[in-house]
Amino acid sequence: MALAALWGALCSCLPSGARPLPPREEPGALRYHVTYVREPQPALEVGLLRVGERAPRDFLFTQPGGVERVRVFGRDGSEREVPVSAEGGVLVPPDTRSLRYRYPLNASPRGRHAGFFTGMGEGDAWHVAGRAWLLRPRTATPALSAELVVEGVDALLPWTPDASGVYRLRGDDLVNSGFHGFGGRRCMLRLPGGEVEVALLGRMSRMDDAALCAWLEQSAREVLTVRRSFPYPRVTVRLVAVPGREDPVPFGMVLWSTPPSISLLVGQDAEPASFTRDWVAVHELLHLAHPPILPRVAWLSEGLATYYTELARARSGRQTPERAWTELLAGFARARRAVGSRTMEDVVTRGDSYLGTYWTGALVALHLDVALRRVTGNTRSLDDVLERLAASGQVATFDDFGAAVDAIAGRPLFQEVVSRHLSQPALAELEPLLEALGVESVPDGARLGVARDSPLRDALVAPR
Ligand SMILES: [Zn+2]
Repeated sequence: MALAALWGALCSCLPSGARPLPPREEPGALRYHVTYVREPQPALEVGLLRVGERAPRDFLFTQPGGVERVRVFGRDGSEREVPVSAEGGVLVPPDTRSLRYRYPLNASPRGRHAGFFTGMGEGDAWHVAGRAWLLRPRTATPALSAELVVEGVDALLPWTPDASGVYRLRGDDLVNSGFHGFGGRRCMLRLPGGEVEVALLGRMSRMDDAALCAWLEQSAREVLTVRRSFPYPRVTVRLVAVPGREDPVPFGMVLWSTPPSISLLVGQDAEPASFTRDWVAVHELLHLAHPPILPRVAWLSEGLATYYTELARARSGRQTPERAWTELLAGFARARRAVGSRTMEDVVTRGDSYLGTYWTGALVALHLDVALRRVTGNTRSLDDVLERLAASGQVATFDDFGAAVDAIAGRPLFQEVVSRHLSQPALAELEPLLEALGVESVPDGARLGVARDSPLRDALVAPR
């Protein structure tokens, strides 16, 4: 009876003009009804209705561990319990009408930041990744449609609900479901080309909401020192306060939902002034400056974000050019200490040093930027490559990136630069590049002098 009432409630909240679900012969559809409950502990109660004979019946928790069993309701009124397999799988009988389960949001996490995915928060403000709580079809085609509603709390999911509060999703959205916020406060950042909706989850001891949103807005505006307009019409960011931390942003990540979703941990006891020096927020936002490169090539995407993190903060005036170069030199030095004389190819193939991956990638980005400026008389740059790539589609390949570099250069350039870096000891190209740019490493940072390419160097961080 409770279940019938639940579905009745779901259907009554749909407007009469809502898009009709596909007929039974179509790929089928799924309807999620999610209710936030406080008792006996904060949890998501999830009802999942299969619509149509061909609706999926093989389901998966992408990140298993939060739910042990699912209640399954047959079309004949039967009811049974199905265990979730160790790998997160749930296979239901063909006559299944609906499923129901509870996901606890405060399960004790194991390891540092483990709760970032599985659920962290306090009171009625929670952060969780869709892959932990959302039971999705094991294989989901774009043709599969799904509706999702959330009751009992104000949610910030990657998607925009329709006027009646229903999220209308495709199969892909269920697979790459991004980060989710439940409860908390909100602010909206409006930028040329797009807006950023922010959920503030938890309490800060020294920062008020207005200051947090102003800091995040500055970071988002720094993306506009690289791209002409904000790269997505709407993205969401969740800020999750971490008790006992004084560092402003201990951790952050972007997930490639459609559109992408970002979440950042913020130190509950961090001083307002410390946010001025934060680089994590702008780094994550800069990942949006080009379409995701698939299959993922970590040294390229992390290299670009790492490189532009320093440039963008100098272009906006948040740090001086000398400071930007000091940060770049320090990063390259840390990477060199981490990987020694190994080749870049060995470092990025084994992927055992994040410093090595990020900073050898950042050096390739710097080298490409300088090479593009050299061959175009400083009229085109790596910024133009990102602009071109974004204009060509919602995702890109590694080869697309290379082709965009060559197109902006007006000649083959990408392969030559990249293969030189990959085949040599990591960062072997650093010193000749710095010398040409007039950047000298001195004990307290970087000294900028006059050299052949110093006008290019100054253009890299020129205000915009
Ligand atoms: Zn990154």
